[in-house]
Amino acid sequence: MKTTPFDLTGRRALVTGSSRGIGQALAGGLAAAGASLVLHGFDAERLERTHEAFAERFGPDRVDAVAFDITDEDSVAQGIAHIEEDLGELDILINNAGIQHRVPLLDLAVEDWNRVISTDLTSAFLVGREVARRMLPRARGKIINIGSVQSDLARPTIGAYTAAKGGLRNLTRAMTAEWAGAGLQVNAVAPGYIHTEMTQALVDDPEFNSWICKRTPAGRWGTVQDLMGPVQWLASDASAYVNGQTIFIDGGMTAVV
Ligand code: NDP
Repeated sequence: MKTTPFDLTGRRALVTGSSRGIGQALAGGLAAAGASLVLHGFDAERLERTHEAFAERFGPDRVDAVAFDITDEDSVAQGIAHIEEDLGELDILINNAGIQHRVPLLDLAVEDWNRVISTDLTSAFLVGREVARRMLPRARGKIINIGSVQSDLARPTIGAYTAAKGGLRNLTRAMTAEWAGAGLQVNAVAPGYIHTEMTQALVDDPEFNSWICKRTPAGRWGTVQDLMGPVQWLASDASAYVNGQTIFIDGGMTAVV
């Protein structure tokens, strides 16, 4: 019996891009709240290292790992079919995997534009659609898309990323419009600047680093731990009447100019 509505015992969660960075931390947070995990990444070796570490931490029975390319429709279909048919039904999907490519729009090659849009936006549609096809007949399930402050704000040199993350905010609403009535909850979490591999070069740039600390009302970079509570809450019964929202976890960055 669940003692709090935040308890995720008995739920199975797939976190895309959980071989490292934010996804890995979010997977750890869901497991700490009781969930079983399907870890995911592209690089099979890196994924296996994370799998081994998680199996040791939470027990081998509560952790599986499946590698597939989130930008490829067939690869997504096979990956989700394998999880649902061989490992067990999914209750929670976190669409987290993503990439960034820093080039001004005038110099941005269409191949790089397409790669970013496909990894950061189309992937959430592909994985979300495949998972929703199974969750909808069961009339329950949670999808959480990982956006960014760029879901609401723009900065130079990350045009494709900004377009993708803005699109993800509206995809969250579109999924809600079609699926909420059938019991599937879709929301998004939009992190501010979080220190991970993706942002290491920015952390190492003294000018950018000091700009972030000044531009963020909380006065600091975010940490992966800052994202954990909000994602645990959205994944749990405690958020049962929250639908179609993008929740900014950004130290106040999008609240002030
Ligand atoms: P990382 O670069 O640390 O990790 C990215 C993850 O995505 C890896 O697990 C990687 O797998 C996986 N991935 C990338 N492309 C593919 C693909 N084609 N198929 C399968 N898996 C793929 O990123 P972060 O942890 O920093 O970011 C995670 C999410 O959070 C992203 O959506 C990002 O936009 C968002 N975000 C990050 C912020 C930050 O400051 N770091 C701020 C706001 C949002 P592999 O290891 O195999 O390459």
